[in-house]
Amino acid sequence: MPENANIDWDSLTFSMTKTDFMYVAECQLGQPWQVGNMQPYGKLEIDPAAGVLNYGQGIFEGMKAHRSVEGNVVLFRPDENARRFQRGAARLGMPPVPESMFIDAVEQVVAANSHFIPPSGRGALYIRPVLWGTGPIMGVAPSPSYTFCVFVTPVGPYFKGGLSCIDLVISDEYHRAAPGGSGGVKAIGNYAPGMMPSKNAKKRGFAEVIYLDAINHELIEEVGAANFFCVKNKKIHTPELTGTILPGITRDSIIQLAKHKGYEVVEEKVHATFAMEADEAFCCGTAAVISPIGSITQGDKEKVYLNREIGPLTRELYDSLTAIQSQKEEDVFSWLHKVPLEIPLNLV
Ligand SMILES: *Cc1c(COP(=O)(O)O)cnc(C)c1O
Repeated sequence: MPENANIDWDSLTFSMTKTDFMYVAECQLGQPWQVGNMQPYGKLEIDPAAGVLNYGQGIFEGMKAHRSVEGNVVLFRPDENARRFQRGAARLGMPPVPESMFIDAVEQVVAANSHFIPPSGRGALYIRPVLWGTGPIMGVAPSPSYTFCVFVTPVGPYFKGGLSCIDLVISDEYHRAAPGGSGGVKAIGNYAPGMMPSKNAKKRGFAEVIYLDAINHELIEEVGAANFFCVKNKKIHTPELTGTILPGITRDSIIQLAKHKGYEVVEEKVHATFAMEADEAFCCGTAAVISPIGSITQGDKEKVYLNREIGPLTRELYDSLTAIQSQKEEDVFSWLHKVPLEIPLNLV
């Protein structure tokens, strides 16, 4: 196995760089999962009648492996990703991947591609588990067979020059999810409909769109594919999970961390009008951890937060969470999962 991937770590962005190995497992509907194996990274063959290609029967996850300051390779709360992956599979009529199999697959792919993990503080190995209905099916029904695949790509730090504020616009035309739909799971079909609104927002100079609830069009739900928070009088507010919001692991970690620090956190409805009167606002997810929000525009109204400076609480939470993730600060919640790099690989 190559010692070093010959990568210029400082030129990495959040994009796809091929690595050496991927994990692939298969399952017939109604049967247990068969143990998967590691394969050279490359193209998969797929039936044109696959459920995932015709009806979007698929889910994904997004995780990161970091090299900590102590030299360990660590995952952040991978059991939470495993459980969310199981809930998503169930929602889309797919056989859930057992939690231990999910973690084992992620560990094997990270270990096999360990030469692609950036040095501490210079990025991460982004991990993408996917589950697809790959068996052929013509009627709208669950595929007869499934593929669970895990691949990785090295990514640079999300904010190259350090944290910076983003400008957002509230979408007054489009919604991301409706009650009873699939907004609460990482179903692949949830994402393509957001691409056009997001692209239009970018053309107007905004980083992303904010989606409101599909019923009253008043409550903040999410920022593209990130969860929303705002701070008013030192109290932290985030939209409650109603089924239309993706339960982010970063979101949950920020809630726990803020409470541990003694802040009051309320999970309830967050009106757009309230958010536009808040002191600070930010959004969060695995990719960027925390993105401070500099402004929100709705129609002809614009709210600028703190003159586009990063809010003190936003900064504090970002610093604490990233310090825990890189083992600079004590892992008081036992969130880190050390990856054994010498694990046996099931290579074919
Ligand atoms: C993945 C995702 C998030 C963030 O979840 P994390 O577990 O924090 O990465 C938020 N919203 C949507 C729609 C997502 O797909």
